[in-house]
Amino acid sequence: MLIIQCCKHKTVKNCIFCQIVKGKIPANFVYQDKDLVAFQDINPIAPVHILIIPRKHIVGIQTIQDKDQRILGKMLLVAKKLAEQNKLKGYKLVINCGKLGGQRVLHLHFHLVGGWKDLKKYHQWIEERFREGGVL
Ligand code: 5GP
Ligand code: ZN
Repeated sequence: MLIIQCCKHKTVKNCIFCQIVKGKIPANFVYQDKDLVAFQDINPIAPVHILIIPRKHIVGIQTIQDKDQRILGKMLLVAKKLAEQNKLKGYKLVINCGKLGGQRVLHLHFHLVGGWKDLKKYHQWIEERFREGGVL
């Protein structure tokens, strides 16, 4: 996918996702427009694990403002579009909010997670995740 470089957005130097937006750190992009990009998670926890992020550096849901409403709505619509493209019949859309909510990268992102073949596989995945102490 051709990566559109876009300089008008406020980015933060030591933010990994801002560096991905700027093309300074490589990523497998699956979607981009003037406001958002989506790319594959480097450490997928399920058959499909995509991160959807705004180009603009927003720390997380904990810092959103009224002016972010349009971008937030768009992130949901893009999540739905990517789920359809990946033929996901069901999926999780996870947003970790703040360090005590498990957020490690402090640049807003939605995790789109899915791709289990059937309910049995999904339940096996859930059991394994919890047995290993893993959360999203
Ligand atoms: P969080 O824990 O903040 O909700 O999720 C951060 C996610 O970003 C993790 O799932 C992690 O695997 C992913 N991640 C961290 N660094 C990189 C990177 O450099 N490239 C990509 N593609 N994903 C990353
Ligand atoms: Zn950032």
